Amino acid sequence: MTADVREEVTAGWSELLDSGAFIGGTAVARFEQDWAAFCGTRHAVGVANGTDALHLTFRALGIGAGDEVVVPANTFVATAEAVVLAGARPRFADVDPDTLLITPETLEAAMTPAVRAVAVVHLYGQMPDMEGLLATAARLGIDVVEDAAQAQGATRGEARAGAHGVAGCFSFYPGKNLGAFGDAGAVVTSDDRLAETLLSLRDHGRAGSGHYDHGLLGLNSRLDAVQAVVLAAKLRHLDAWNAARADLMAVYRDLLDPDVAPLVGRLQGGRGVHHLAVTRVLDRARVREELAEAGVATGIHYPTPCHLMTPYAGYADGPLPVTESAAAQVLSLPLYPHLRVGDVERVAKTVNAIAPRRSGR
Ligand SMILES: *Cc1c(COP(=O)(O)O)cnc(C)c1O
Repeated sequence: MTADVREEVTAGWSELLDSGAFIGGTAVARFEQDWAAFCGTRHAVGVANGTDALHLTFRALGIGAGDEVVVPANTFVATAEAVVLAGARPRFADVDPDTLLITPETLEAAMTPAVRAVAVVHLYGQMPDMEGLLATAARLGIDVVEDAAQAQGATRGEARAGAHGVAGCFSFYPGKNLGAFGDAGAVVTSDDRLAETLLSLRDHGRAGSGHYDHGLLGLNSRLDAVQAVVLAAKLRHLDAWNAARADLMAVYRDLLDPDVAPLVGRLQGGRGVHHLAVTRVLDRARVREELAEAGVATGIHYPTPCHLMTPYAGYADGPLPVTESAAAQVLSLPLYPHLRVGDVERVAKTVNAIAPRRSGR
């Protein structure tokens, strides 16, 4: 993917070096416009990384001490981390056994009177039942913040990830579907006031009336111009890259034996972007080892649910059986746009041969 943009990035960086505008400037403004247009929102606010995107969004919504945010326990730790960084308390929700995503029912089960928002995570590249979640959140009187770090370009109905909740938070960590050459992130929103607050928070709480006028307690979480050049170049390829991932995923779906390595389920009514090819296997440690011996690198997303990690165990309300049983079995198979179909075929056949049958026959 680097090869696809090398020329454009090099030219853009050369221009940037001539301009000397490393903080802010046209490169950042241009990418923010492109990203908002892509997501279908009025604003995109570039920030330093995805964790800050979430943390600053919670703060911009006025969420802090005494407040709670529902977070699915099956997510990357940053979702929960951002809640705690904002001064609030995470309430962990379980997930659907097929999709491993939060549902209206698991959201409701995690509710308390102090909950102000839910962080809906589009894990593995797929958006959950947003219609149900938005209706439930509206009835409960809480905000929906999308953690769309793994779902750049995913859709549900007509609208892209990030355009459904009050705000959508993105990471452009190099391994994401749209990745920078370093750390980067963004928040998209169609709420003018929220966007304005985020612009201030990411830049030392500047009030807009002057360089040394600080109206809010902010921090430094600006998007680098150097990364904005990369992201603008890569964005032109994102739909094609996501389509390539979908084609490869279809090969996995065709070839993997569902009684050996069932893939995470798909929801009707949306189009995922297949950030990860997540399956479930028994005897995972041995399966991973034998795959590694066969030259197949795999990952685990994620081995420890958030509510069982040391910094968050104090926030756990009890066991979350679906999340915990999934954590023991999930296995991520190789998936990236330039992977060859023949490699996917070989991986699928190797997994079928190595992993135990689930039905016990
Ligand atoms: C990557 C990721 C983040 C955090 O992004 P960083 O840029 O690494 O801070 C948050 N949530 C999810 C679901 C992620 O995958």
